Amino acid sequence: MRLIIFGPPGAGKGTYASRLGHELGITVVSTGDIFRQEVRRNTNLGRKAAEFLSSGELVPDQIVTGILAKKIHADDAKHGFILDGYPRTIEQARALDKMVKIDAVIRLTVPERIIVERLSNRRVCKKCGAIFNLKYLKPKEPGVCDNCGGELFQRGDDLPQVIRERLKVYESQTQPLVEYYKDELPILNIKCSSARIPPEIIVREILRKLQKANLLV
Ligand SMILES: [Zn+2]
Repeated sequence: MRLIIFGPPGAGKGTYASRLGHELGITVVSTGDIFRQEVRRNTNLGRKAAEFLSSGELVPDQIVTGILAKKIHADDAKHGFILDGYPRTIEQARALDKMVKIDAVIRLTVPERIIVERLSNRRVCKKCGAIFNLKYLKPKEPGVCDNCGGELFQRGDDLPQVIRERLKVYESQTQPLVEYYKDELPILNIKCSSARIPPEIIVREILRKLQKANLLV
């Protein structure tokens, strides 16, 4: 089973992908995670990627596709994979087509007001990086990390106007890709219309749609 997952920032895509991967016995290939890992290990690739990232540029298609090719042909992907963060452009989608056949696209949609509410209430610990939410996962003492007593702060890209901008960028990237795939592959549309739906319900819904598309044996 080879899947692609699309979802806006703040949709909980990483959580769903890892649970779904676990259910299906396939691996999650997240380009974001791969880059962070390579940067941390200070590999050649990591240094190259860090250069682009620190200057605010996108990592060029050629580099991203090179890493991806390695990952999807790796041993732990032999039963399949869920791609998270790739493809981001039509050019990447074409490169992927040449490498491997994809079975379906999962498309998570979340109303903008829910994403803005969720992300704008997010607070991060300066010291240990723990994540809190002023609505759903409140720290015991306002402004203080439960784990380490560090100070909580709001990331610059979690401000409402920045979130709306990120969502616009996401939509303008994703719409053409959905168009690109829609005649070739089943697109499984998953609506997360409330912030309170537990992840397992969403995952069950994805599995049900995979079954309906005759992709589960
Ligand atoms: Zn902390």
